[in-house]
Amino acid sequence: MKIAIFGAGVAGLTAAIGLVDKGYEVELYEKRAVLGGKVSVWKDADGDSIESGLHIVFGGYTELQRILKKIGAEQNYSWKEHSLIYAEPDGKQSYFKKANLPSPWAELVGGLQANFITLRDKLSLIKGLLPALTGNETYFRSQDDMTYSEWHRRKGCTENSLQKLWRPISLAMNFIEPNVISARPMVTIFKYFGTDYTATRFGFFKKNPGDSMIEPMRHYIESRGGKVFTNAKLQTIELNDDESVSAVVLSNGQRIEADAYISALPVHSFKRFIPKRWLHHNYFQDLFRFTGSPVANCQLWFDKKITDTNNLMFSCDTTFATFADVSITCPEDYQAGQGSATGGSVMSLVLAPAHQMMGMPNDLIVENAVADIHKLFPRSREAKLLKSTVVKIPESVYKAVPGVDKYRPDQISPVKNFFLCGDYTDQKYLASMEGAALSGKQVAEKVELKLGKPKAVELA
Ligand SMILES: Cc1cc2nc3c(=O)[nH]c(=O)nc-3n(C[C@H](O)[C@H](O)[C@H](O)COP(=O)(O)OP(=O)(O)OC[C@H]3O[C@@H](n4cnc5c(N)ncnc54)[C@H](O)[C@@H]3O)c2cc1C
Repeated sequence: MKIAIFGAGVAGLTAAIGLVDKGYEVELYEKRAVLGGKVSVWKDADGDSIESGLHIVFGGYTELQRILKKIGAEQNYSWKEHSLIYAEPDGKQSYFKKANLPSPWAELVGGLQANFITLRDKLSLIKGLLPALTGNETYFRSQDDMTYSEWHRRKGCTENSLQKLWRPISLAMNFIEPNVISARPMVTIFKYFGTDYTATRFGFFKKNPGDSMIEPMRHYIESRGGKVFTNAKLQTIELNDDESVSAVVLSNGQRIEADAYISALPVHSFKRFIPKRWLHHNYFQDLFRFTGSPVANCQLWFDKKITDTNNLMFSCDTTFATFADVSITCPEDYQAGQGSATGGSVMSLVLAPAHQMMGMPNDLIVENAVADIHKLFPRSREAKLLKSTVVKIPESVYKAVPGVDKYRPDQISPVKNFFLCGDYTDQKYLASMEGAALSGKQVAEKVELKLGKPKAVELA
């Protein structure tokens, strides 16, 4: 039984892994020359790795870690010291370190020791966050009718804790402000991250996500008979009389026929290809409720080390909310002699909110980012900027605004041989690598559920 998957981000790749494991014949078609989607990495003319965005594996990503182990890539990332680090002006840093106790005591005691929020902030959080820490999936979903800021204030939590602690987290998670993001994803992570000791630790890929995760995924699929095609763009979906898919046509005119078809495109891309005849289904119409969050990633090469921090950092009042010195966090890439790196820092900055940056010249974006780096890291004021890059993504992950969660589609569509996967489809996580991996796992299971096991596997 042949399954054709379109889009080779983490969702499409993990769907392909699940399906080759189940014995299906799998063909994966990706429009770009590089695999990985939002996790893709490529080399520029200087031989430097350019990331679509800085990517972190969280301790709570059980599905992604299972996949990384399965494909033999569990040695390709490493855990950093278990703490949230907030960079502050003039080289100061504040920490939220979990205490060495079982959860939730680890978070409670660690939170009480955090030095950048006041005792009043802490007491308001202990009382206010209780419904999230004790809630279940039904409770989280029911909180999708308000923004996180509204939820925070209704629970009596302080304004200072909103701005200092949670604003950078909201910007890091979905690239939007706490007064825009729904309460649903925020309270969900409070539960996962506040009641599981290891969920909040950060893992960095030793090279970059492309070499450390995406290439091993491709290798796993191909070594089990799957076929992966790049520069292969889905252009048209052709239908039978009963609305099922008869073929998919690529932009080069190639017709692909299969027993089942999976779109692993981002929702904003897939919307352009939905056949008109499918639009009477609410399932497809509701996809037009999703819009993408703009974000940009800026990489700065300095001639000197401007920090010694070997971890993810958060910051307030800067053009970037999360960032890292990848010359330290990724010890097998960005090192002296590799491309433009001379032994100095290579800062990878996730710029958000980024609505205004989409039309801004890159020089100005870099100028603003460097000014903020100078504000935070005194050593950078003496360092020379060797090189900079900016990658803008006008529609990245879907905006998790109030009211949208209930429209996240199941992987099974009303069309009998057509399925969806992708970080926006229904799974318990927000758009993330873990969410994409969960959607890939779920779609592989649902294809098997609807189509049955491939014959060869049945006979064996
Ligand atoms: C700057 C940034 C930082 C991030 N940081 C983190 C992080 O630290 N941790 C984390 O867990 N998540 C992070 N994320 C989120 C994470 O990258 C995404 O949630 C996840 O990678 C989405 O995977 P996906 O497969 O659903 O979609 P995508 O990655 O968007 O994959 C879709 C694929 O479909 C392809 N495609 C599109 N149109 C067509 C077509 N017509 N034909 C064929 N192929 C097509 C695209 O080229 C792409 O390869 C970050 C995202 C960004 C943008």
